[in-house]
Amino acid sequence: MDVVKKILEYTIKCPVCGSEMKIEDHLYDMPLVGKVIISSGRCPRCGYKWSDARLAESRGARKIIYRVEKPGDENALVIRASTASIIIPELGVEIKPGPAALGYITTIEGLIMDIIEKTEFICSEPDAPLDECKKKLEQLRKARDGLIKYTIIIIDPEGVSTIVSDKTREEPLSEEEINALEKELLGMDSQK
Ligand SMILES: [Zn+2]
Repeated sequence: MDVVKKILEYTIKCPVCGSEMKIEDHLYDMPLVGKVIISSGRCPRCGYKWSDARLAESRGARKIIYRVEKPGDENALVIRASTASIIIPELGVEIKPGPAALGYITTIEGLIMDIIEKTEFICSEPDAPLDECKKKLEQLRKARDGLIKYTIIIIDPEGVSTIVSDKTREEPLSEEEINALEKELLGMDSQK
């Protein structure tokens, strides 16, 4: 993966402590993918690391669908923009965008490992629902070990996420789905 160039530098408010933090955007040219923008920065006060990854060119609001059903499928590369949701119905996983959401480039396997790590963290809290945690972690570990088939669905209102594989199916979002997403975003604002 070659860095083509640094294209932008700007500041955002740290989602953790509210300090100003500097973000740099770099443009990469990736084989099989094309131009990808990776943003990253670190808060000088609390050390929080922010990152995002997205295709340089939007292809319109869309749903990206990928089935993991045989060994090797977990090696496909995922580019998830911070504004996209990830849903894995069989595992009861739903990752929503939000002010502290990160975008990243990882493999399906890396994504599952990350979800396991976060679930373990949540489940180590004293008030965690133990039965539910046990069941969920069991399912996630089966997925990690290739013992169950599952579907990765990315809902991307900006159309800048992708899963790099011939098997990936992409569908435009319906009017209803876009409306539902907008409603959700407005809901997030009014909770502040
Ligand atoms: Zn901070």
